[in-house]
Amino acid sequence: MPSMDGLKVVLSKIHGYGIVALRPFKAGERLVTGDGVLYHEDQEFDDTYALVYSDAEDENEDPDRYYDLIDQTRWINHACSPNTEVMTDLNPASGEPYAWWTALRDIEVGEELTYDYAFSGHLAEPCNCDSSACIGLIVDPDELEDVPENLQPLIKHDRLSARRAQVELADLSSERVASAAAVSR
Ligand SMILES: [Zn+2]
Repeated sequence: MPSMDGLKVVLSKIHGYGIVALRPFKAGERLVTGDGVLYHEDQEFDDTYALVYSDAEDENEDPDRYYDLIDQTRWINHACSPNTEVMTDLNPASGEPYAWWTALRDIEVGEELTYDYAFSGHLAEPCNCDSSACIGLIVDPDELEDVPENLQPLIKHDRLSARRAQVELADLSSERVASAAAVSR
């Protein structure tokens, strides 16, 4: 199991357990790697802590594999204005799949790590992240029409533009991180 240097599992203000920073992290810094088990969508597995999996060789547009997190990284919560981003790929040394989280901005001591779960509409869940971009649901903001009817009243439509701006910011940051990584190789 990978260690969590500079991080700690605590009771979260957002939901259940969460992971907080014990030291400052810089934007673009890799925070932690996650260990998991890879499943094909046809297999039976518990999807509570599973990431949609893709790697560099993935030619599929539609995700059909899931990476079930089996270590402490499963406690990293969702936020509608997240401070980290998760990626999945094959470990170049071992050939095994793995996941890692990168800081989207500077993270202070005591700050809880979060990333955007970006659930499909039909998998939406109520969100308590309480950020100014919180739309009331854990969901990809482009998937709102597929949100079940009983959850539709929770959607805070007045915050949709703030939420979309967060998604764009995250995309920009990850492009910057990717190009910085390419340069440093
Ligand atoms: Zn939220």
